[in-house]
Amino acid sequence: MSSQEQRRLDQNRQQTPELQQLATRLQHHPYQPPPGFSAVEPGVHHASTVIFPTVAAMRARDWRNKDGYTYGLHGTPTTFLLEDRLASLDGGRHCVLCPSGLSAIALIDQALLAQGDHVLLPANAYGPGREFVERVLTGWGITHSVYDPLATSEQLAACITPDTRLLWLEAPGSVTMEMPDLRGLVAAAKARGVLTAIDATWAAGIALQPFDLGIDIVMQALTKYQSGGADVLMGSVTTRDDALHERLLFTHMRLGLGVCGDDAARVLRGLHSLPLRYAAHDASARRIAAWLQTQPQVAQVLHPALPGSPGHAHWLRDCTAAAGLFSIVFRREVTTERADAFVDALQLFKIGYSWGGPVSLAVPYTMPAMRPGWNEGPLVRLAIGLEDAEDLMADLQQAMQRAFV
Ligand SMILES: *Cc1c(COP(=O)(O)O)cnc(C)c1O
Repeated sequence: MSSQEQRRLDQNRQQTPELQQLATRLQHHPYQPPPGFSAVEPGVHHASTVIFPTVAAMRARDWRNKDGYTYGLHGTPTTFLLEDRLASLDGGRHCVLCPSGLSAIALIDQALLAQGDHVLLPANAYGPGREFVERVLTGWGITHSVYDPLATSEQLAACITPDTRLLWLEAPGSVTMEMPDLRGLVAAAKARGVLTAIDATWAAGIALQPFDLGIDIVMQALTKYQSGGADVLMGSVTTRDDALHERLLFTHMRLGLGVCGDDAARVLRGLHSLPLRYAAHDASARRIAAWLQTQPQVAQVLHPALPGSPGHAHWLRDCTAAAGLFSIVFRREVTTERADAFVDALQLFKIGYSWGGPVSLAVPYTMPAMRPGWNEGPLVRLAIGLEDAEDLMADLQQAMQRAFV
């Protein structure tokens, strides 16, 4: 405590609380908890207002620095701690938290793109992120192109224009699970001075090290594995480069993006068990995916770690693990109604969006609408939870028997 702070504290004490009215004493109390409290879980700080000891301290404060506090929106001990842990998990230097994965995507777009710029998105990009580009950025005079997620370096290079400022990557892509040639795509972007951002939610800081591949920005939906509880929405944007972090931080501040201390504490708690949970989801999912490949109604299982899955060679080269998320494509004879009946017949698998939580989930996707030119059978995405793998297979089997009579 500085001498100035001590003086103010002494002054407060001199205004003997006993002489103050109840309403005042309930707001201002001289008790100061002694320093040195230490526990496994850090304290959860809630703040909009942050109190400064003096006007001079307030004036001297720079909201960008993490050596102090300015206002709840710009961070508390709880959010700074989570940002620090995530930066090190991702192998980056800086991290900013956002209220959802989608807001983290939108932050990157808004920080790095301006009128006249062009952005590249993979055809399997997370749907709401793509819609942000199509429906919002287009209105701001920002153009975009969609590229084949399995494009080669040369094919991607042909999509880059003099206005291209940002290349979005997703590994693997949502729903259809193609694992891109990250090294080739990044090389094509770097050759033209285009920044690269990856939605690395699937890898969760475990299966892939994007910065080691030369990617500039790592975005995560912490809503999934980092939280692990299916009860928090949060996103993060991690960087290694100081100047890039500043650009993101300024936009983050101007957009007023902040997260709640309780939610940050939930994610901090989830991080303790992240590697254990991820390994369990991975092991179960691979077993179940391999078993599904042998089922008569299943035409293909889209899981990057399975041989024959799109981009499997890229997964082998760049990844060390896989998440518990994959899709099954039924044979063409299976109608959408039968695929829906299969999902309805599941008991342990619940019907719902998101993944990375304890409970297994199933979602049928309307592929022809999502991917024009789709001429395969119906697709169902499965998120494998933490239930016993045998029980999950039994559930899938009984649902197939009921749906495909
Ligand atoms: C869920 C998800 C998001 C968005 O996260 P929210 O927190 O739900 O907004 C973004 N990208 C991917 C790949 C996701 O799975």
